[in-house]
Amino acid sequence: MGSELLQNDDNTTINNQNIKVFNSYDLTEEEYEDEHGIEHKFPTTNSYGEGLFDANGNEPISDDERKEMVERLESKLVEVLDILRIDRNDPNSTQTPRRLAKMYVNELLIGRYTNPPKLTVFPNRKEVNELIISKGITVKSLCSHHWQPISGTAAIGYIPGKYVIGLSKLTRITEWFSRRGQIQEELGEQIADFLVELLKPKALGVVIRSRHYCMIARGVSGDEV
Ligand SMILES: [Zn+2]
Repeated sequence: MGSELLQNDDNTTINNQNIKVFNSYDLTEEEYEDEHGIEHKFPTTNSYGEGLFDANGNEPISDDERKEMVERLESKLVEVLDILRIDRNDPNSTQTPRRLAKMYVNELLIGRYTNPPKLTVFPNRKEVNELIISKGITVKSLCSHHWQPISGTAAIGYIPGKYVIGLSKLTRITEWFSRRGQIQEELGEQIADFLVELLKPKALGVVIRSRHYCMIARGVSGDEV
């Protein structure tokens, strides 16, 4: 069977021999096409006039603003349960809208609303010139596509330049970036970019190994990425 040559959007020619390109690995092809086939135009502020930003972005807000966010979210989640025909007289569901609202705002998405962790960098006085590595850093995150947990570990290694940082701080930085709506590649990028800016190392790498519950729960093959 001969191969065909196809024209791409950007006019490059590709050889179409059983090539599959997955741009977004935890979406089915159908979902990917849904999200990219239609031109959407969404507002950039909400009905309260507040600015909207990416799921893995960060704009710190006050504790009072966060409390108000929980209240507003709870009332919307009551509607969600209603639409799903879940009776809140069932004692297991009575507090669910409140529980979910608090969980999203104060736990799963908290990295969107808080300042970065307080960090001190130290001069590399002994001129360490070898790889410093911290493995097994817990990653607890939320997949932006399906709002299901991403659970795993990160390894961060760097060869210092002028500065070094306490290893426990790498955990705090990872947590701050993880507690947002994420996709794994962007999470790794954000952590790496932040540390490069902070430490100006000679080299730095971030490797994340995790399980994506959107794939496990839905039965999409390849549950470990
Ligand atoms: Zn997902």
